[in-house]
Amino acid sequence: VKNNGKNHHLFYDASLSRDAVEHFQMETELRQALSRQQLRVFYQAQIDLNTGLIVGAEALIRWQHPTQGLIPPGKFIPLAEETGLILSIGEWALTQAVSQANEWHHLHPEFKKIAINVSGVQIMKSQFADTVYGVLVDSNCDPSIVELEITESTLMQHTQHVVNTFNQLKQLGVSIAIDDFGTGYSSLSHLKRLPLDQIKIDRSFVKDLPDDKDDAAITSAIYAMATQLGFTVVAEGVETEEQEKFLQRLGCQTAQGYLYAYPVSADAFLQLLELNNQR
Ligand code: C2E
Ligand code: CA
Ligand code: CA
Ligand code: CA
Repeated sequence: VKNNGKNHHLFYDASLSRDAVEHFQMETELRQALSRQQLRVFYQAQIDLNTGLIVGAEALIRWQHPTQGLIPPGKFIPLAEETGLILSIGEWALTQAVSQANEWHHLHPEFKKIAINVSGVQIMKSQFADTVYGVLVDSNCDPSIVELEITESTLMQHTQHVVNTFNQLKQLGVSIAIDDFGTGYSSLSHLKRLPLDQIKIDRSFVKDLPDDKDDAAITSAIYAMATQLGFTVVAEGVETEEQEKFLQRLGCQTAQGYLYAYPVSADAFLQLLELNNQR
């Protein structure tokens, strides 16, 4: 019995330290990923539901790892947030996406918006509005094509610094969207107090449309409230024509999802934009 216990103990320690080693190795690699040019920004089309045309894109980061292949953001953004690396990674992604979108906007004026994900850590742990200002000036980009997506959970940290940052961003002329709306338990009063422009209806509500009565009711209610408060609405995760029809009937203007396009490289997205004109 004593021996068993000891073995168990040894086994437990070994697995713990293996996890720790893997974690540490990933952190070391992530630290180098930027300078080794392993990070990529992919772009997913946003579609005008009235015309069917691409009117914008969401920038989504990926890590092209030398041995593990393309790593999705869900696997490294949390580590980047824990370690503070998100500050440099986020600024890099912002710079890439803004200069890319500026180019596309000039080539294809119907491309009007680039949505960029911003971590709560960037808002809380840096002078984020100064960073955005610098990026806009460097790329000589019209601020009105830039939309920053901030998740609802960030809005819960309703400190003076967060409020000030939102107001500064607004003054720069960029717009602000709430991502994953309806999933973060945020107080609706924040919607009133913060200078927001857009609400993104989370994929979890869109997924079972139109058959799921609860999701249909929630989506309709979010849409009605958002428009009455003067926000524009984007539905995310649209995969079927039935979902699209439901959203069109609701009056929803913009949608994003695999029904239209997967997130793709910048080169592939430019090809989509070129086809866009010919439809
Ligand atoms: P998100 O902002 O909610 O982005 C939407 C996610 O849904 C993306 O996953 C996208 O590929 C996926 N998606 C889009 N359409 C569909 C669909 O029709 N069906 C399904 N099942 N999925 C769809 P992705 O690219 O893996 O990104 C995951 C999350 O990582 C993002 O969720 C965002 O929170 C975060 N993220 C991505 N890029 C950045 C970044 O540059 N900075 C920060 N802070 N976070 C990022
Ligand atoms: Ca997003
Ligand atoms: Ca989202
Ligand atoms: Ca999400």
